[in-house]
Amino acid sequence: MPYKCCAYGCNNVDGVDKNIKLFRFPLNETTEKEWVNAIQRKDFKPSKYSRLCSAHFNPNDFVENPNRLVLKEGVVPSNFNYPATRIKKYTKKKITGNVYSPVLNEIVQNNSHPGYSTKLIFWCA
Ligand SMILES: [Zn+2]
Repeated sequence: MPYKCCAYGCNNVDGVDKNIKLFRFPLNETTEKEWVNAIQRKDFKPSKYSRLCSAHFNPNDFVENPNRLVLKEGVVPSNFNYPATRIKKYTKKKITGNVYSPVLNEIVQNNSHPGYSTKLIFWCA
């Protein structure tokens, strides 16, 4: 199972785009809290499987290294997209992409009206 970025509205997965790298949450508790604050997801608690992708960091947050992306110590992610349009894009992608859940899949298959499906997925998400 590839890791998926935990940022809201971000669909980046590990190993698809070589320009995107997924990072584990920092072990330092203070920095970890800053990451969680930056992500702004309600009741979000990172687990050891939680990953955040490189798209949420600035270029100068990385150690200069030509072969791979390495984060500098103590940096906090800052590039996030919270607007509603972004959320809509995300939910629409869910319908055409991977199956969200067996129940939802059934609803999507039985009702091809896009507005209805989007609304349902949005409500479930
Ligand atoms: Zn991401």
